[in-house]
Amino acid sequence: MKSLRELYKIGRGPSSSHTIGPQRIAEYALRQYGRQAFRVELFGSLALTGKGHGTDRVLKEVLGPDTEIVYNTQQTELLHPNQLKVYAGGRELFTALSVGGGSVVIDGQVDASPEVYPEANFAHIAAFAAAHGLSLPGYVRHYEPDIYPHLETVWQTMKDSVTRGLEATGTLNGGLALERKAKALFCANTKFELSVMRENRKLSAYALAVAEENAGNGVVVTAPTCGAAGILPAVLYYMYKDCNVPEEDILDALATAGVVGNVVKQNASISGAECGCQAEVGVACAMAAAALAQIYGLDVTAIECSAEIALEHNLGLTCDPVLGLVQIPCIERNAMAAIKAVNAVMLAKSLESKHKISFDEIVEVMYETGKDMNSGYRETATGGLAKVYHRP
Ligand code: SF4
Repeated sequence: MKSLRELYKIGRGPSSSHTIGPQRIAEYALRQYGRQAFRVELFGSLALTGKGHGTDRVLKEVLGPDTEIVYNTQQTELLHPNQLKVYAGGRELFTALSVGGGSVVIDGQVDASPEVYPEANFAHIAAFAAAHGLSLPGYVRHYEPDIYPHLETVWQTMKDSVTRGLEATGTLNGGLALERKAKALFCANTKFELSVMRENRKLSAYALAVAEENAGNGVVVTAPTCGAAGILPAVLYYMYKDCNVPEEDILDALATAGVVGNVVKQNASISGAECGCQAEVGVACAMAAAALAQIYGLDVTAIECSAEIALEHNLGLTCDPVLGLVQIPCIERNAMAAIKAVNAVMLAKSLESKHKISFDEIVEVMYETGKDMNSGYRETATGGLAKVYHRP
């Protein structure tokens, strides 16, 4: 598994696979071939939702405004649902894949970054940690002793995205005329509100704040993707702001959540185009549950159980973004998943000893479920909500 730097990337929304990944591919094209007239052919999900997700915008920002963008929606035999080809001077230069969370594969070469963690899955990690008397943050520090400054930057970026999102008002671009709701939700003065509803409202407002920032092309952290970027920050911000959890504990929680995200990235997928929203929001929910369990000081078994419950109850979640935008259902879905993450930890705290399914097993099931999904439910905006919605 790779460094947590490869999991937690900082960049502009709305989509790690459709904006951050293509941006890195375009930067590679410039480095390798110099500035010239490029043509970029998009395939699969990049062709079907690239406009709504801003792929054309980032490619032109990096390669130049005259770059020709071709949307090839006909070719279905692809190496990956997010594939593109770059041409210049009448010849094909290279093929690239945007495989999720901003990671890319260019001409068959996975990101040049080295493998940092030798363990293959959660069971191996838990065994290594137990054998060496390590917590999960200790496991991260064992292999990446210099990762905490990066986690500090990640945490600062998350906090900034929550606070910016709580202040912002107005309508998001893209054609849905969707109003930002985080501020109104946070400030809602609800009479006779049950305490559980009040806390869920705050948690939801934090998640909406980041998800709306993401939809508005603001700077967010891939956790593990841009579309699901609100879930982990919402839970961490709530614990920091409303429960006075010290920031050093938040950084440990980020490390633990990173282990969970890395296991899924290594053994399955964090790409909505490959496995539906269960791979984005489902994995973010598992990461947030693991983070919260870490903050509670639960042991590795209970942390695993928290993450497993969170992912299990997102199985089958489809990706059907209306108009190909990362707005409906994505923004509210971040709020729902943040609440679900808290519930997963509550269940795990009480039921962990009776638990039957391992995190590695649920990751395998998530991957198989994603592979079985009709392509209409994998970030193509051709099924589900995207199909029933018609422009007014
Ligand atoms: S539905 Fe989920 S996976 Fe699809 S774009 Fe929205 S957040 Fe991403």
